[in-house]
Amino acid sequence: MTGAISGATVVVGVIGDPIAHSLSPAIHNAAFSASGLDWVYVAFPVEAGRGRAAVAAVRDLGLRGLNVTMPHKADAAAACDDLSPAAQVLRSVNTVVRRDEGTLFGDSTDGEGLVRALTDDDVDLEGRRVLVIGAGGAARAVVPALAGAGATVVVSARRDEAAEEAARLAGAATAPFTELGEVVAGTDVVVNATPLGMHGEAPPFDTSALRDAHTVVDLVYEPARTPLLEAARARGAKTVGGLGMLVHQAALSFTLWTGTQAPIDAMREAAQGALNGA
Ligand code: NAP
Repeated sequence: MTGAISGATVVVGVIGDPIAHSLSPAIHNAAFSASGLDWVYVAFPVEAGRGRAAVAAVRDLGLRGLNVTMPHKADAAAACDDLSPAAQVLRSVNTVVRRDEGTLFGDSTDGEGLVRALTDDDVDLEGRRVLVIGAGGAARAVVPALAGAGATVVVSARRDEAAEEAARLAGAATAPFTELGEVVAGTDVVVNATPLGMHGEAPPFDTSALRDAHTVVDLVYEPARTPLLEAARARGAKTVGGLGMLVHQAALSFTLWTGTQAPIDAMREAAQGALNGA
């Protein structure tokens, strides 16, 4: 937002439960301010089961769009008139746009957000062997995007059937979770898409398998230096934290709503500031 809210202020927001600790309001309001847009971004606490009605209300309330987080991503996809190719594959939406004619378009920007964050960090994915650990919402979003960027993707998760389902989204392979150390040794890029590390948990494999040729990516962004990234750094590997993905998925939403380029630096600064409690 640039100044006082008026009758002309354009409203967007995020629906989820829980939502109070979302960093998205800080990131997007900083972006609107940096871009001189009379827009505001607010968090709507929406209970499970109410996601579809909340997305439909975008039309009634004249919102420009929404971000969507747990537990509403599948309901939001069902409530949209059209979906991007990524959202069609996932049947999941994290961004809803109300087009000028009133129809709702849904996209999933997490996967492309990671690919852009890796490009920022000079991580080339073309022809690289990428191991994705985990098979939840984040893993499912990044698997097709990494494959689409030219990587050969392998998925490993503690539940084999979940790994197979995530791998199927991109015709990827799976590997046994109990043999992660050996799989890591044979890959170029390791992506942690589990919450392990948020509270100091050790990585789910023996990190002596890591070499300086590895790139290790943690989707966890708080803390910035997870035990996995610390171990990877100690072994000489290149490390990438989750903040870049968080910022780029938000930047893609911003562009979908506003039709303009996102002020990435202001968004990164706001995300960092919100994490630091600034
Ligand atoms: P999710 O849907 O709950 O999936 C979590 C995955 O991790 C599941 O495969 C789960 O296995 C597995 N898992 C959980 N605890 C485990 C453990 N102790 N050992 C082994 N596997 C375990 O969560 P998500 O939405 O995918 O998010 C995963 C992480 O990515 C979170 O830390 C989240 O903050 C982060 N994330 C970051 C960004 C970003 O922009 N940087 C975006 C999205 C998510 P089960 O299915 O068997 O439980």
